[in-house]
Amino acid sequence: MIFKPQIWINSVLDINEEFLKKHDIRALVLDLDNTLSMHGNPAAENGIPEWLDEMRALNIPMRVVSNNINKRVKPLAEKLGLPYCANGCKPLTFGISKAIKAMGVDKKHTAVVGDQIFTDVIAGNLKGAVSILVEPFHHENTWTFRLKRKAESLFFHRDFSKLKKTDKGDK
Ligand SMILES: [Mg+2]
Repeated sequence: MIFKPQIWINSVLDINEEFLKKHDIRALVLDLDNTLSMHGNPAAENGIPEWLDEMRALNIPMRVVSNNINKRVKPLAEKLGLPYCANGCKPLTFGISKAIKAMGVDKKHTAVVGDQIFTDVIAGNLKGAVSILVEPFHHENTWTFRLKRKAESLFFHRDFSKLKKTDKGDK
C-alpha cells in the first residue's frame, strides 16, 4: 500500500548498524524538518550530529531531500555536512531520484526517512525504496499540518496500529 511505511520507528536515532544490516539498507535519503531538526530550528536535535558521524563511520551515504525552501535547508544541511536538495516536491520522486543516483546505491537498499506519510512515505514507496516513518520531534500547529495529521490518523490508524514504534512491518 502506497501510504504504508515499510518500517515505523521513533526517531532516526533508532537507526544503527544492526538495524541497517537487518533491513539491508546501505544509503539514506533524509527529510529535514521534524526528522533531523524541529521545524524552523536552525540547529539539529540533540544527538543528530553524533548519529550522522556513526552513519559515516559505517560508510552509509546520506542526502537530505526536503520540501522546504533553500533558505531553510541550506544552512542546516551544510552545518551537518550533508549534501541536500531543497524544494524536493515529495511525494513526487524527482528529488529522491536525484539523491539516489548521486549516492549510487540501488533504490532497494536505500531508505527514504521522514515524519510525514503524505510526502516522505508516499515518495519512498513510489520510488521503490524502503520507506521509514519517524515520529515528528514537534507537532506543528498550523492548520494544514493539523489537517494532514488528522487525515493520517483517520485513514491509517488501523493499518498502522500494529506497526507503531516497531520495525516489524517490513514484510
Ligand atoms: Mg518533515
